[in-house]
Amino acid sequence: MGLIDESGKISYKNIVQIDDTNRNEEYIFKCIKEYVKLHEDKAEAVGIGVPGIVNNNEIVYTANLPLKNVKVKSYIETPLPVYLGNDAVCATLAEYHFVDKRMYSNYALITIGTGIGAGIILNGKIYNGSTGAAGEVGHMVIDKDGIPCACGRRGCYEKYASISSLLKKTNTESLKEFFYLLDRNENIVKTFDEYLENVAEGLANIVNIYDVEMLVIGGGIAWFSDKFMHKLKTKVFSKILNRYTSDLQMKCAEFGNDAGIIGAGLLSIYEE
Ligand SMILES: [Zn+2]
Repeated sequence: MGLIDESGKISYKNIVQIDDTNRNEEYIFKCIKEYVKLHEDKAEAVGIGVPGIVNNNEIVYTANLPLKNVKVKSYIETPLPVYLGNDAVCATLAEYHFVDKRMYSNYALITIGTGIGAGIILNGKIYNGSTGAAGEVGHMVIDKDGIPCACGRRGCYEKYASISSLLKKTNTESLKEFFYLLDRNENIVKTFDEYLENVAEGLANIVNIYDVEMLVIGGGIAWFSDKFMHKLKTKVFSKILNRYTSDLQMKCAEFGNDAGIIGAGLLSIYEE
């Protein structure tokens, strides 16, 4: 949690550890409510990034927290306006607002981590869809007979292109270990090439559907841009339908771990 000013600077940052003893709705909102009360007089709005589906003032569903059909405003009891956004959308807003807004109006940021999420900006506005569930690109099927997914389908994109899938396939524990081995092990090089091929399949689908001008890769892998970006670009360009006039740009996100919290602070501007 933090207080964000208009330049994106964070003050009064406070990190709350959630573990098995306190992973419940009451505790999570007690922390948020107390934090809001403490800084209410300095703030103009409350923004909350949620790892799941949100719609207006309701958290519809989260995969990794026990939050389902939560009416947030009644919990927080504040006179300030309260805005909810998907966490990938928040990360997208931070990067878009502070880095890329002047250059692009059709834009997508794909967060590649434990799962895969996305924020889609069309004509300068965030696209949430009719129920707030737009951008769930991790569950775009790329092999209908493929690996089963918790969502109930098979062959979802994140089963092949998330960091979790890469680490599992190469028996490594962290990206740091993985990239260390990449410079030293032929088999890992081959597996990484197949992995990038899978990542590119999904990215090309996104470009084919939305025809964005800029595609940003966020999440943990973004720190290792020089190890893969050139190759990934070549693969994506070879797969998109409009190879002829597309001026598609690709890069890794410049904002790091704070992108989500800064983006939550921007929800009041973009969700109006
Ligand atoms: Zn799925």
